Amino acid sequence: MNTPTLLRMTAPLRDDFDIPYHDVGPVERTPRLALVAGLHGNELNGVFVLARLAAFLRDVEQGKRPDLRLRERVLLVPAVNVLGVNLLSRVWPFDKIDLNRVFPGLEGGETTQRIAAALLRLTRGAYYRIDIHSSNLDIEELPQVRLYAPNDDERATACLFGLPAVIERPLNKMFMATLVHAWRAHGGENFVLQAGRAGDLQSRHCETLFRSLVAFLDRTGIVEGLTLADDEEDLHYFGLRQSYAVLSEQAGFFVGRIDPGRWVQAGELLGHLYDGFTGDLLKDVHTPVAGLVCSVRRQPLLFEGDLLCRIQTLDDSGNDVEVMLHGQGQ
Ligand SMILES: [Zn+2]
Repeated sequence: MNTPTLLRMTAPLRDDFDIPYHDVGPVERTPRLALVAGLHGNELNGVFVLARLAAFLRDVEQGKRPDLRLRERVLLVPAVNVLGVNLLSRVWPFDKIDLNRVFPGLEGGETTQRIAAALLRLTRGAYYRIDIHSSNLDIEELPQVRLYAPNDDERATACLFGLPAVIERPLNKMFMATLVHAWRAHGGENFVLQAGRAGDLQSRHCETLFRSLVAFLDRTGIVEGLTLADDEEDLHYFGLRQSYAVLSEQAGFFVGRIDPGRWVQAGELLGHLYDGFTGDLLKDVHTPVAGLVCSVRRQPLLFEGDLLCRIQTLDDSGNDVEVMLHGQGQ
């Protein structure tokens, strides 16, 4: 197997190292799809799922799945922050820079700028581009499609993944240097997938993510011959005003009583807040709104104003945009 390299780097006192990627399908074609994960080295769900998807596509390409045909060229970069993955580090380990805050990067710049520029150069020609993330160490996310100021094509295509939630977000100044924002300058259709929590592998979310990507390959005609189980998909599209962030009113230990993916009624119990020293129950936390629970706090140590849960609502949530942006972890 000939593995292409995104970038080769040297280090002061160790061997050179590479960022490898997969290039499958007809080489003479312009890539139809680029898949990226591991910009944050501790977000393992995407890294694992893209590696597994590359194995699947290679089997198809090599004829080991005679019922299937790979019609288009696909690029997969499972672990951009290749050193960070080895150390379970969100940021680039040498200088602690967040790789998803340096786009469009700079050819001939510092290491992280060169990585960003090389990744953009590799992926910008593909029509569909997907960047996969988990949340941070604190929050677990229901597998979902995130759209940032999308066009109508992206709104329609986002539903092809068959994930339970498609969530629109406003463009925020904080996120102008992300990969998905840099992609926007090159047209095409661009998506962020979010699934689970950083620092850990959640196999249930990985399975959902893998299935969603295979469904996407099928529905975009990139892989032919798949017969996917046509189970009733419960897909919901949530606009900008349909997100409600439940924030902590005081510090303490949060013990959640709910999983991402649950539909709740207004007034339902989300969890308990305890005093970390006395152990006293400080408060039962209830949701003020009904909807789909998409984000849940798993790391229990709380300060006032921390995000406990994010609930996607069927109507206008009444929450303002800044609160909606809280702790989004991309
Ligand atoms: Zn991330």
